[in-house]
Amino acid sequence: MDAIDCLAKKVPFLWLNDHLEKTGPALSGISLGLPDMRDAQARLCRFAPLIMELFPDETGTSGGLIESELVRAPRLGDYLLQGAGPVLIKKDHDLPVAGSVKARGGIYEVLCLAEQLAEKNGHLNPGDNYTRLLEDEVKELFSHYTISVGSTGNLGLSIGIMGAALGFKVDIHMSHEARQWKKERLRKRGVNVVEHQADYSSAVAAGRADAANDPFNFFVDDENSIQLFLGYSVAAFRLKVQLDNLGIEVSEKRPLFVYLPCGIGGAPGGITFGLKQLFGDAVHCFFAEPTEAPCMTLGLVTGKHADISVYDIGLEVRTNADGLAVARPSGFVGKLIAPLLSGALTINDHDMLKYVYAAHQLEGMSIEPSAAAGFAGPKLTLGHDFSRHFEDITHILWTTGGRYVPEEEHRHVLEKGKILFAAEHNN
Ligand SMILES: *Cc1c(COP(=O)(O)O)cnc(C)c1O
Repeated sequence: MDAIDCLAKKVPFLWLNDHLEKTGPALSGISLGLPDMRDAQARLCRFAPLIMELFPDETGTSGGLIESELVRAPRLGDYLLQGAGPVLIKKDHDLPVAGSVKARGGIYEVLCLAEQLAEKNGHLNPGDNYTRLLEDEVKELFSHYTISVGSTGNLGLSIGIMGAALGFKVDIHMSHEARQWKKERLRKRGVNVVEHQADYSSAVAAGRADAANDPFNFFVDDENSIQLFLGYSVAAFRLKVQLDNLGIEVSEKRPLFVYLPCGIGGAPGGITFGLKQLFGDAVHCFFAEPTEAPCMTLGLVTGKHADISVYDIGLEVRTNADGLAVARPSGFVGKLIAPLLSGALTINDHDMLKYVYAAHQLEGMSIEPSAAAGFAGPKLTLGHDFSRHFEDITHILWTTGGRYVPEEEHRHVLEKGKILFAAEHNN
């Protein structure tokens, strides 16, 4: 079966990217670079005192940095790989404030807008403490502006929570799969949630159209935003420090294999870009998508990027992984990462639910189904010829959402996952 057949027939598989290039030449062909990442990192540091003031319970101990832990996951490693190679988890499901990987890109984009408006209106000068932005006159300024975005749930949460906290009006256009609790969480903070009975691309189009004729309305463009992308890329700086602290060597002989759940591609794309900047050929990134919505893989395999959708090959995007329920990938990200990505894998809903249960049972973590998409990765890559070239691989599962999932909802998923987990053990 070729790759397109696997995608059309929903057969889970690992696709290896034959357009992968050496990192050096690949990066030199991209207009963004390390200085852009450093600029984003510096901006997040400038905002840290303000974030700490706004969210003291969640970010007080980290000094206003929104970051997650990197931990060893020996029990999960045994289960997934029978101990063949260390497995670590980058716990972005636990990111404060937004509870998902979107806390990196979405919040960063709101901060960019706030900084730009405040500077333009004389409320921010070089060297100022950014807590100045919480003063009444600045809030009054922000209250004249609306931020709009289309979302399957988590991007809306990150942008809505940060936007509202700074005093912006926020319109979130939610696609049909968005979970009810995410909408309620936003409405409680005064965010305007517009519910669409259509898919993610349609919700994005609605937001874009709303904002088009209003100079006071900023549309956050998940399909094309460079700010979002750079916000995600900063994760690489943080991961490097964490790997150093754990004493983990990263080299071409001892590479990192990183498994990143992928929807439209911004989050895993930005993280991949950042990791390749810092680790070069010593890191191999793999995107993970539901068999029901493998939009980025389809775009890469066909070379058509945003000009093809999973509907075109007969799929319907029926998945529990709401964060990944996207039919058409970002063309901007697809083209940019095409020479940097080592491969992509697909996983069905049953396996994601089973892994949500495994994560809870073996490592005590509460994650949403989307966040488990990468768990199929280590076994798939290890079973492939190319991994024989490496002596020792460190596998990193990037868990992308879950911190604020209500207990009741999580229990529901765990019940389904438990049955699938048990069935596997009885075979
Ligand atoms: C959005 C999301 C992703 C993927 O991010 P994209 O930028 O859409 O590719 C992964 N996991 C979760 C939980 C998400 O909400």
